[in-house]
Amino acid sequence: LVSRKKKPENTIVTVKGETIGDGLQRFVAGPCSVESYEQVAAVAKVVKQQGVRMLRGGAYKPRTSPYDFQGLGLEGLQILKRVADEYDLAVISEIVDPADIETAVEYVDVIQIGARNMQNFELLKEAGAMKKPVLLKRGLAATIDEFINAAEYIVSKGNDQLILCERGIRTYERATRNTLDISAVPILKQETHLPVLVDVTHSTGRRDLLVPTAKAALAIGADGIMAEVHPDPAVALSDSAQQMDIPQFTEFMKQLKPICNLN
Ligand code: PEP
Ligand code: MN
Repeated sequence: LVSRKKKPENTIVTVKGETIGDGLQRFVAGPCSVESYEQVAAVAKVVKQQGVRMLRGGAYKPRTSPYDFQGLGLEGLQILKRVADEYDLAVISEIVDPADIETAVEYVDVIQIGARNMQNFELLKEAGAMKKPVLLKRGLAATIDEFINAAEYIVSKGNDQLILCERGIRTYERATRNTLDISAVPILKQETHLPVLVDVTHSTGRRDLLVPTAKAALAIGADGIMAEVHPDPAVALSDSAQQMDIPQFTEFMKQLKPICNLN
């Protein structure tokens, strides 16, 4: 169902009135984790100022260590929704448990399925049964073929409002947190009709590489970019090394706006 051979025209995903996949290039920005109302509101303000309309933030955090901050859960979704309503933004947040999806859809405009859950087939089926856009991230060590099959799980349950997100894969290279597989973008665009975003924060894990990798992603045909922004990354409860602060995000957008297709 996701194959370009079955459906030659692009799937356009509509999130709170904004289209993704129609040739325009979009942005998703926000903190790694929702930490407080004030923290999310500070980011939402600059996100809005920059013309970005999708606000991200993790409430259920899939952390490598059980001793790291696990997210605020439902309270995090409530904070996100409150801030997004105040700034007229759409909410995108990761859900990790199929049992949480039904409640989550009252708070989020896009259900994110994270890299660690790309092959959580029960989660994929549950998200596929919803009438809500889904953003599916590529698994840490998933091939493009496995990624496409995971997408098929969602669409085969009836939900065609699906966005794919390349977020880097694990390789032997340690200079970056993951290796951004930039050629996955045109391959996914050729093989499927789904929109493709590139997450520059989790692929590089390096603040100094966000602008050049975002430029590469836009140039190679990505439908949009995801990046993390925090009012004070040094004290962030997760991904402290790679989130941008607010002036850095403003500069990031300044560099990218002239080279991307905005409406
Ligand atoms: C995230 O976007 O918050 C995240 C955890 O990313 P990934 O699943 O790509 O590691
Ligand atoms: Mn993060």
